[in-house]
Order: sequence, then C-alpha cells, then structure tokens
Amino acid sequence: MTVIAVLPGDGIGPEVIQEAVRTLDELDLGLTFDVLEHVNADTFLASGTALTADDVARIQRSDAALLGAVGDPRVTTPDYVRGVLLRLRFELDLYVNHRAVSLLADHLSPLKDTKRGAIDCVVVRENSEGLYAGIGGSLRQSTPQEVALDVEVNTYTGVSRLLDYAFDIARSEVCMVDKSNAVPNGGRLWQRCWAEHRGRHPGTPTRHLYVDAAAMLLVADPASFDVIVTNNSYGDILSDLAAELGGGIGTAASGNLNPTTGFGLYEPVHGSAPDIAGLNRANPVAAILSAALMVERLGHGDAAAAVRSAVARAVIQRRCTPDLGGSLTTTEAGAAIRAELG
Ligand code: ATP
Ligand code: MG
Repeated sequence: MTVIAVLPGDGIGPEVIQEAVRTLDELDLGLTFDVLEHVNADTFLASGTALTADDVARIQRSDAALLGAVGDPRVTTPDYVRGVLLRLRFELDLYVNHRAVSLLADHLSPLKDTKRGAIDCVVVRENSEGLYAGIGGSLRQSTPQEVALDVEVNTYTGVSRLLDYAFDIARSEVCMVDKSNAVPNGGRLWQRCWAEHRGRHPGTPTRHLYVDAAAMLLVADPASFDVIVTNNSYGDILSDLAAELGGGIGTAASGNLNPTTGFGLYEPVHGSAPDIAGLNRANPVAAILSAALMVERLGHGDAAAAVRSAVARAVIQRRCTPDLGGSLTTTEAGAAIRAELG
C-alpha cells in the first residue's frame, strides 16, 4: 500500500489539491491518502504551531507528501512558513528541488515562434545550503556604517549528492551553472565535484555555463536545455525564469526530494494566492503536474505521462482557467483534465 500525506494548506491550496487528489484517484494506482487538514494558518494563529512533531512523524511514515501552499496575509511572522516548509525540508533532508518545465501549448509561450515540445527541461536546485543557509550577521546595525553579511555555504557532500541526482535523471545533457569566475571558493568546490562527476559519466554530454550566460541562453535557446543543475540562489531565479517560459506560475510543478531515501514533498511552485482564494478561479494545473511528478518518482511513469498529456490536451483546447486563456473554474478545469484521461 502506498500512502500519500496530503497537506492542503492555505488559500488556494485546498482548492487545487482537491483537483490533484481527484486526478490521482482516477488513475487507480492503489494510493491511500492521509490528509493533514490542520496544517494551516488557522492552526498557527490559534496555537502558535502549525506542524507538530507528531505531524512530521506521520509524514515520515508515508511514501510521499503532496502540499498545496502555506502562507496567509494574517500571519506576519516568517515563523509560520519556516515552521512548516523549512522544517520539513530540513527534518526530511530534502536536498533536491526538482522543477520540470515544459511548454504545454503554443499559445502559452512568451517567446515568438516557440512550439510545444520545444521546451522540456528540469532545473535541479540545491535545496539545503548555499546562500539561504541562514548564516551571517550585521555589524554596526542601523548605522550609516552598517556591514551585512550572508555566508554562502557549499559542502562537498552537498554538491556531490546534488550532481548525482542531475546525472541520474539526465536524458540528453547535464548543464552545470555557477559563477566560479567571480565566486572563487564555492566555485572551486563546484568545479572539483563537476570534474569528478563528468569523469564518472563519460557517456553523458555536459555543458558548463556561468549564471549570467545561462539566463541569456534560457531565453535565446531554451530548446537546448535538458537538466540544469545549480546552487540554491541561482536555482531559485533560473527556475522562475524557466517556469515563465513554460506557461507561467499556474503550470509550474516541483518536488523537494531526498533521492537517497526516495521520499519527496511535491508542491506547485505558486503560493497561496490570497487574492483569488475561495473564488474557484485558481489554476489546478501546477498541483496536478506536481502529483504527476510524484507518481512518476513512485514508479508509475506511464500514469505520469498520461496525466501530462491529458493536461496538455485540455489546455490546447482552452479547457482551462482564465490565466491560461480559458474560462473554466478550478473544479471545471480539473474535470476537463480527468475527461481527457479517459
Ligand atoms: P505566498 O505568500 O503564499 O507565496 P503570494 O501572493 O506571494 O503568496 P502567489 O500565491 O504565488 O504569491 O501568487 C502570485 C500571483 O499569481 C497572484 O496574483 C496569484 O493570484 C497568481 N497565482 C498564483 N497561483 C495561481 C494559480 N494556481 N492560478 C491562478 N493564479 C495564480
Ligand atoms: Mg510568493
């Protein structure tokens, strides 16, 4: 039995997760859902903790987790989102952020003359260290002489295990992105790990780009990319750029993965979108594609491919929400995708 921990979260989270779960149900993969409905801002506001140690243990006992979104305008402290997302990321050591981007339909491309199928890449972002490790401080704070430091952490183990994953999932190429010409210490470590991995995978074509060139080429020649592997901050930026090339925030899926244990927490890239919460207007595609990535990683590659092509067919026929050029509600858009699943 495969157990999926479901965390609907806040805002549009429950609306889009409902469509993702209905889609998974349709696939008949024998999945059981353990829904942790209480992990949300209401619980945080009432008790100060949205995710307890018991919740973490429950999630750990499952085979994978599917999350809607956490975030609420009523909560002003970063402790809430940190207490849920960062806590899960660190306790489960989800060191890979996997963001797959493919252009679902021609009309969604922000680039001229880019056709469906032309963009099909994965940004593999380091998810546990780098510039977001939270190490640093400020001298002479709040004075005109203030000096603020945020330390970028790069470890041999962290970079190596990330590159392992990038080479594992490569279909035609691995492109490593850094800024080793300007950031010498971390750059040297990345380059050393990169050289070792290339040596270990002589059959995989590889390419190295500085991050500025990578940003340019993603727009100029997105079709040339397969797997892009990079650190936490460059991955953050490049994956948003790539998401826009694939059809925008309503379509971007992600997985926070620990490829060593096999566990993953899958979530749409978008947030809780409080401006449209409760209106049945949110696009469920990102959540549904996140669920597809999840079942693919659980060994159901055929089911994942079926979901992806059903989503593309529905979107091409404009049977989708307004952000993708359609006029359907969230629930109607989910139903249209399931109808395409046949
Ligand atoms: P959070 O703080 O939770 O990240 P946010 O408002 O900063 O929330 P998003 O939730 O990603 O960021 O929303 C950014 C914009 O994109 C909003 O205008 C939102 O309505 C829109 N948006 C996000 N997700 C969707 C979706 N699934 N369908 C349609 N529009 C969306
Ligand atoms: Mg946001």
